[in-house]
Amino acid sequence: MDQCIFCKIASGALQADRVYEDDEVLAFRDIAPLAPTHVLVIPKRHIDTLNDLDELSSPLVGRMFLAAREVALRDGISERGYRTVMNCNAEAGQVIFHIHLHVIGGRPMGWPPG
Ligand code: AMP
Repeated sequence: MDQCIFCKIASGALQADRVYEDDEVLAFRDIAPLAPTHVLVIPKRHIDTLNDLDELSSPLVGRMFLAAREVALRDGISERGYRTVMNCNAEAGQVIFHIHLHVIGGRPMGWPPG
C-alpha cells in the first residue's frame, strides 16, 4: 500500500503527532481537529474500509478501542465523555481508505451528527 498516507504514517515515512502506539495499532492527532481532542486510531496493517474486516482481522477493532480508551484517559476526557466514529465509504464521509477510529472530545457534542 505504497500510496496510502496512513500506511506511511504507520511506517514512520510520514510524520504525525503520535500519542499512543503498540505492536498492532497507532494513534495520532488529526491534522484538522474538530475538537480539543481529535485523535485517529489506525491498525498498522492496511485495511481499506470496515467492509473489508473479516473474522481474522476483527480482533484488531478491539485493540483500536482499547487504544481509544487509553487516549481518552491520557487527554483527561474519560469521565467528561468522548465520541468514537469510524466512517465507512463515501456517504459516511470516509476520505482516507485505511480504517481509522476518530476519538473526539473536550467539548460538548450534539446528536445526531449532520
Ligand atoms: P475520514 O473522513 O473518516 O476518512 O477521516 C480522515 C481524517 O484524516 C480527517 O479528519 C483528516 O483531517 C485526517 N488526516 C488527513 N491527513 C492527515 C495527516 N497527514 N495526519 C493526521 N490526520 C490526517
